[in-house]
Formats: sequence, structure tokens, C-alpha cells
Amino acid sequence: MGTTVFERHPASASSIAAMLGGSALSPFWTDDAPGPERPALAGSHRADLVIVGGGYSGLWTAIMAKERDPGLSVTVLEARRVGWAASGRNGGFCEASLTHGRENGESRWPEEIDELDRLGMENLDQIGETVARYGMDVDWQRTGALAVAVEPHQVEWLGEDALDAEATRALVNSPTYLGGALSEDDTALVHPAKLARELARVAEDLGVQIFEASPVTSLEDGPLVRTRDGVVRAGKVALATNVFPSLLKRNSLMTVPVYDYSLMTEPLTDAQLAQIGWEGRQGVADMANQFHYYRLTADNRLLFGGYDAIYHAGGRVRAKYQDRRESYEKLASHLLTTFPQLDGIRATHRWAGAIDTSTRFCAFWGTARGGDVAYSLGFTGLGVGATRFGANVMLDLLAGEETERTRLRMVRERPLPFPPEPLASLGINATRWSLDRADHREGRRNLLLRGLDAVGLGFDS
Ligand SMILES: Cc1cc2nc3c(=O)[nH]c(=O)nc-3n(C[C@H](O)[C@H](O)[C@H](O)COP(=O)(O)OP(=O)(O)OC[C@H]3O[C@@H](n4cnc5c(N)ncnc54)[C@H](O)[C@@H]3O)c2cc1C
Repeated sequence: MGTTVFERHPASASSIAAMLGGSALSPFWTDDAPGPERPALAGSHRADLVIVGGGYSGLWTAIMAKERDPGLSVTVLEARRVGWAASGRNGGFCEASLTHGRENGESRWPEEIDELDRLGMENLDQIGETVARYGMDVDWQRTGALAVAVEPHQVEWLGEDALDAEATRALVNSPTYLGGALSEDDTALVHPAKLARELARVAEDLGVQIFEASPVTSLEDGPLVRTRDGVVRAGKVALATNVFPSLLKRNSLMTVPVYDYSLMTEPLTDAQLAQIGWEGRQGVADMANQFHYYRLTADNRLLFGGYDAIYHAGGRVRAKYQDRRESYEKLASHLLTTFPQLDGIRATHRWAGAIDTSTRFCAFWGTARGGDVAYSLGFTGLGVGATRFGANVMLDLLAGEETERTRLRMVRERPLPFPPEPLASLGINATRWSLDRADHREGRRNLLLRGLDAVGLGFDS
């Protein structure tokens, strides 16, 4: 088997240890922008709309419900804190795509991919407009994105308008780059925790009630939404619980958590930044199956994440899964392979989060209980922008309205479930192993991956 550039040019053990030595095992974003604490639900309440989950999906649903009908009473119930989960620990790449890239969408819904792309771009524009309209302090910057080839076989994947190595390195100076493709309009960068905090602030300004430390334990006929210490009689219920155990049996095998790891460095000095260039401040991702994503923050820290994607048998979200030394060491080494100019830089934070994986690699929707309950789940690591579209779909479904969104085949079709354990572990780990092998074999996909591709379960980043 071949090697990747990260294996041919690894960082020294001492550089890796120096980078990670003083880092806290905690998401940078929520440490940087903590939100206010809110009370837990207690006693009996009523609300026209109850939303379960205080991440982007739930908060967008709350805001847009109030925008559609200011008279509606809306309550959000969050198990822990607003934005503590994926919404507060992601890379902050807010992308237009609703389908996890055009290729994935086109392979599933070829007849509507142009419409899906148009709706995705409109959704991204509308997020930018909302940020401006409510004066949201979220470090929003429509920088665009740079896809980079770091192995010879990836160069041909860049497409017609590819930049050569020299032009790519003129944008962002990494010796690993063999070519690149710039997309200027389809990506904004955002501070993830500020986005969650500000969405909650705007929702409350519009009159939404948000309760924290209020895990919903059951959804009963009525619908009655029950927490440990309280209950809400709801007109309608929106489930925005992402990869957490579903309140509906039918969704229990529809998403699995796959852990993704990140490092955040101290702010780069002007001299360090000058050696890299990066005046356009684009979000960058390489083109391997197991890819890295990286970006600058408003204060010029470098976020470097991705590569390892770890599934833990049983499919739960657990704090202990964050602590995986080998993944952080790999990331530290790969960061220095990418930017040897930064040797000596320290990471201040390291953390992981659960990717909300569905078998079709993008969100799905549906209703239950005679249309009183709707859900929007399974964004598979590309939900910063798409959760707003998903929230709009939930509101359309709950209103019983046919819209251009609910007419989509993508919205009407449900994906295949994951198999139960132990098959889930076997299948997911075999797929991961195969993707890693493909990265080491010039992208060539083995029998398992080709089989999965054939039945629509294949993933090619
Ligand atoms: C490390 C990492 C990096 C990522 N990077 C990117 C990126 O750069 N770009 C991108 O587009 N996407 C990215 N993603 C994916 C993106 O973060 C998610 O798709 C998005 O945040 C999903 O939002 P959500 O509101 O649906 O889910 P979440 O943020 O997970 O929120 C769900 C909420 O529901 C609550 N909840 C669950 N069950 C209950 C219950 N029974 N009662 C009450 N509350 C409940 C949870 O406590 C949680 O707060 C990344 C994800 C991770 C983990």
C-alpha cells in the first residue's frame, strides 16, 4: 500500500508533544463565547409549539415559527445547555449544499439537484440576511472555500477550473498542495458557539421561552411533552434532537454518532500568518476520503479538524469518547505537515463531537402522531447551514402546507436505517477501514465500497 503525504512527512514526537502539552480538553468555541444559563422546566405548561433540542435545528425552528406567526407561543426544551453539542463544537463552515455536496445529491435525486442547489444557496443568503437583520454577533464572513489536492490522484478530482500547485500555494502556502479549486460564494465561516448563543438571544427577543437542563423523557399522546420535573401540553412538536436517542421508535436506527476531532491553536503571529498568506481567509478542506478541514478564527487562531472518524460500539454520545490521544497526536502531526512554518505553535484546545450520520449523508424529515410531530435529523457533518432549511421543512410539515420544499423527493423519502448492533459496528468500521485503504491506494475503492456505492450507501467526500 502507498503512503499519504502526512505519513511521508510526519512531525517529530517532540513538536507534537509541545503542541498538545498545554491544551485543554474542551471545545474552544463554547469556552470563548459562553451563553447565559436558563432555568429548567418545572410544573405544567401549554404551548402552541414545543421544540425539543436547543441546537441550530431547534433554535432556527423557534425563530422562524415566530416570524411566520408572532402570536404563536413557542417553548424550547434543551436537555443540557443551548449549543453544547454539535452546534457549539463544529468547524463553523456554513455551506450552501443541502445534500452534503452536489455529487451525493446528484447520485440520489438527479432530477432535482439543480433545484436543491438553488434552495441551498437561497438558504445561505437568508442566513446572512438574518445575521444582518438582527445584528447577530457571530463573526460571519462569506469567505468561500478552497478544496485542495494533497495526493497526485486527487488532482483530477478538482474539475475543470482547477488551480495548479503554484496558484493554490499563492492563496494558502502549504507544501502539501498539488492543486486546488476555489468556490467563492457557497461558503461562509461563522463562530459556531456565537451562532447558537445569538440564535437563542433572537428567539427570546421574539418571545420564545427556552428551558435548559430539561431532558424530554417521553412524548405522549396529546401531544404531552414530559421532562423530569415538568410537562407541556403542546399544539405541535418539532423534534430537533439530532444524533441523540430518538423520542420516536421509528427513528432509533436512523442516525449514528461518529466522532470527529479538532485542535485550536493560539493566535498566529503576524509573521506566522505572513508565511502562509491566506489573505482570502477561505475555509480549506483536502480531498481525501478521510479529510482535514481548517480555517482561521477572527483572532487568527487556526482550527484544524477531521481525518479520524471514530464510531464507538453501541452508538451513544459519551463525554469520555472525546479523550482520544492518538487522534489528537495525528491531527497535530498533520497540521505541521500542512504548515511546517508553524513548528513550535501551541494548541490551546482539543475536543471532539458526534457527527450526526445518516445512511444517505444528509438530512431527512417526516411526521408522526397524525402530523402533530415533525422531525429533522441526520445532517452528517454538514448542518451549520442546512439545519435552517431543515427547520423550514419541519414548519411546513407541521402547518400541513405543500411548499417547494415539501414537494422535493429528497424531503419525502426516508433513508435506510443502520442495522442494529453488532452489525452496525461491523459495517461502519469495515467502511472506515476501506476508505482509509482507498486513500492509501490512489483513491481506488475496494469491493465493499463499490458494493455500498451501488446500493446508495457509499460515501465519497
Ligand atoms: C466536530 C464537528 C465538526 C463539524 N463541522 C461542521 C462544519 O464545519 N460545517 C457544517 O455544516 N457542519 C459541521 N458539523 C455538523 C453540525 O455541527 C451539525 O450538523 C449541526 O450542529 C446539527 O445541529 P442540530 O441542532 O440538529 O443538533 P445538535 O447541535 O446536536 O443539537 C441537538 C440538541 O438536542 C438536545 N436533545 C437531544 N435529545 C433531547 C431530549 N430528549 N430532550 C431535550 N433535548 C434533547 C441535545 O442536548 C442537543 O443540544 C460538525 C459537527 C461536529 C461534531
